Amino acid sequence: MGPREYFRNIYDTVRTISIGMRITLKYCFAKTVTVQYPDMPPVVKPRFRGFHWFEAEKCIACDQCAKACPIDCIYIEKSGPRKIDKESGIAVGGALERYAIDYSKCMFCALCTHPCPTDCIHMGDNHDLSAFTREDMVIEFTDLAKDGKQTPEPYWMQKETMPDWASNMKDRWEERAKPVRDEMLKALQPSEKKK
Ligand code: SF4
Ligand code: SF4
Repeated sequence: MGPREYFRNIYDTVRTISIGMRITLKYCFAKTVTVQYPDMPPVVKPRFRGFHWFEAEKCIACDQCAKACPIDCIYIEKSGPRKIDKESGIAVGGALERYAIDYSKCMFCALCTHPCPTDCIHMGDNHDLSAFTREDMVIEFTDLAKDGKQTPEPYWMQKETMPDWASNMKDRWEERAKPVRDEMLKALQPSEKKK
């Protein structure tokens, strides 16, 4: 190595370290953005793509969402063809036996929501869903529908005490599902044919 290359190496080392240190120092004096979660709510923007909310009563089990999913993590089973009843706007026909999403695979791309012909699968505002096993990350939306729910709740939200913002969020989800609770249950059974 000649003297020119030797000093060039020293110059490059000092220069790259100073670039890194400049960025580090900038953040040392920047305003902190730490949110005291869960006491404080996280900032969720209107178009945030969180855990889905699903309107079982409008689902015709057409598989369009599952086909659009790039990683095949939506599972749908039905007992027979389903279609929207024009009078009620509710899906009728065979039972919706299973609608599940595996959140250990889902990447929240929202591609499943676009092709839905009945606009019944949406990206939700729930940002948090921890689980102890991979199996627990598979959310059975048809089981949630039996309890009148459209979106999964984090474990801590199932406790009696929680921060006000979380309790308001839970109330909002319940209010949204309340008017269609009966229809959600009916979606899980084959409907009686009209005479
Ligand atoms: S958000 Fe994307 S990855 Fe997740 S279920 Fe929908 S299509 Fe699949
Ligand atoms: S959610 Fe929509 S796209 Fe998916 S099966 Fe149901 S109706 Fe079809």
